[in-house]
Amino acid sequence: MDCTLRESYDVVVVGAGFGGTAAAHHTARHGLSTLVIERAENIGEKIISGLTIPIYGFLFGPGFIRDGTPPIERPVDGIINYIVTDIDREEIVIDDTLRFPKPFAPIFSFGYNAYCADFCQWQADEAVRVGAEVVTKTVVSDLIIEGGSVRGVVLEDGRNIAAKIVINAEGSQGLLSVKAGIRKKYPPRVISLADTYDYTMKKGDVDRIFGHSIRFLWAWDEQNMAPPLGYGNGLMVWPYGESLHFMQDQCLAMDDGTVQNLKKRFETYHKNVVEKLPWWRDDVEAKAELRAHTWQCFEIFVGLDDELRAMPLSTGGMLLVGDAGGLESTELCDGVPAAWFSAEIAGRVAREAIEAGDVSEDFLSRYDREIRNHPIIAWSITAPHRYLLRNAQQDHDLGSLRKYVHAGWGFGALAHTVSPLFRVFLSAIRQDPRVLTSWVRMFFRNYRHWHHSYSDDVSSCGDEVIRPGDRSVGEYIFIFLMWWSDLVLTVFWPVLWTMSYLFVPFAFLMKAIAGFMVWLYEPLYVRLLGRLDTSAVGMTEALIRFTVKARAATFGAKKRREP
Ligand SMILES: Cc1cc2nc3c(=O)[nH]c(=O)nc-3n(C[C@H](O)[C@H](O)[C@H](O)COP(=O)(O)OP(=O)(O)OC[C@H]3O[C@@H](n4cnc5c(N)ncnc54)[C@H](O)[C@@H]3O)c2cc1C
Repeated sequence: MDCTLRESYDVVVVGAGFGGTAAAHHTARHGLSTLVIERAENIGEKIISGLTIPIYGFLFGPGFIRDGTPPIERPVDGIINYIVTDIDREEIVIDDTLRFPKPFAPIFSFGYNAYCADFCQWQADEAVRVGAEVVTKTVVSDLIIEGGSVRGVVLEDGRNIAAKIVINAEGSQGLLSVKAGIRKKYPPRVISLADTYDYTMKKGDVDRIFGHSIRFLWAWDEQNMAPPLGYGNGLMVWPYGESLHFMQDQCLAMDDGTVQNLKKRFETYHKNVVEKLPWWRDDVEAKAELRAHTWQCFEIFVGLDDELRAMPLSTGGMLLVGDAGGLESTELCDGVPAAWFSAEIAGRVAREAIEAGDVSEDFLSRYDREIRNHPIIAWSITAPHRYLLRNAQQDHDLGSLRKYVHAGWGFGALAHTVSPLFRVFLSAIRQDPRVLTSWVRMFFRNYRHWHHSYSDDVSSCGDEVIRPGDRSVGEYIFIFLMWWSDLVLTVFWPVLWTMSYLFVPFAFLMKAIAGFMVWLYEPLYVRLLGRLDTSAVGMTEALIRFTVKARAATFGAKKRREP
């Protein structure tokens, strides 16, 4: 327990997970005294050992993450879905359509695999760097509530800490918002428990077997290969730098309220996967060594609950971020982007409220409105995809199952996501068109740092001393292209700004158009993918050689105005 804590702060953040540390970064960077309180001894340990963070979180989330050098474990170029209909006969349908083509991949990626502990610690360090205080091994056990408004937190040792605003990012337990009287305790059917296996594996083996793909497994219930579809998220295998992460999760309770013996079921699934699934049995099993197995510690909020979704995300003096506000994505189980987006909005609204001297329920309700209008959050928490998967599995309908897996984790996913992503893209361009070059630099920087295992000049991109002749011609060309693009984007900003509004109706229509035309462009894309993947190998290797040999500063972020 930390004795140096002050009695009051502008902002107290509960939880140093993905959302809490991002919110704290925002408020501290804007000069508000900010304290983050984390119950775990080591930041990130109460979340999970690892996951995949989809790229739209990096593109449209907090600037310090996009422009920083966060510890990623491996870029992801696509998802390979294995649908097992009969494992004993090895009847397995594969959907490998959602893939970023060479030579862009793997530098440009669909997302990044990461260990939560490392990533959240990095975010916390960045928040401290801009002035936040972070204490661990400290539990917030209650809220100070006066006149119906939250005025601070009570620690487990009985100490009170006053705050103008409490940002509650306590994750999927959500107990403090229940205490504040604005939400109800999550029922068992919206919480899934995760079973994770962490394996070490030589980098060369991971590269050869997995490349940059992640692998999902779907199966009929009686196959005992993966948890029933829809109830949680099935099974995923994530390749990391020199390790593999195997995760299965399932909701605590089924539709009829019955609670399964998950531990027993997960043991059976895992045994069957390692012994029967051809690629695991033949390629992985002999090369992977179990490092850790953690069962039941990790809860995932999987949504699918209209009542919870309609409940408030704020009250006087308090804002709920990420899983605490029920923002985990129902559609794809990707809660980190939602935590980042909501943290940014919470940080800004907290700042506006404190500047206006008004932290009332009425003022803070603008946070609820912004969250519910955020195109990606709104899409991800309301899409019916998991229900559809669940129905297909119950009916043993392979056609439907393939269709919904394809629509969620295959090429068809693009038709769903195109409208919300394009709308957020337009608003990012509107704020500053040079975000485009920041993204390009980010992809190259992340790939370079990942390749070097974060062992060299990780945080010193801007401070690197470059002597004449240190840089290659390619680096000078890259820098010139970025500089020239920034200039053109700045000059044409008024045009882009106007166009970003003109394109809004089109953005709404895109989903319908993409859904209607998918039969036409998907076969074209898949054929092109096949061609590019074989013909662009040389270009891909050249691009990778250039990226990993370049000086870190070549891909360093430029200082940009942040909202
Ligand atoms: C097994 C698993 C796999 C997942 N896979 C993915 C994935 O692939 N991609 C993805 O995007 N998302 C994934 N998620 C979801 C993602 O991890 C969450 O949505 C995300 O972590 C939410 O961030 P948050 O800040 O809201 O909460 P968290 O990151 O959960 O942080 C909450 C923090 O609050 C702390 N805390 C709680 N109560 C208190 C208290 N009273 N006092 C002090 N501290 C407290 C906790 O210790 C924790 O550190 C996965 C989750 C799990 C469990």
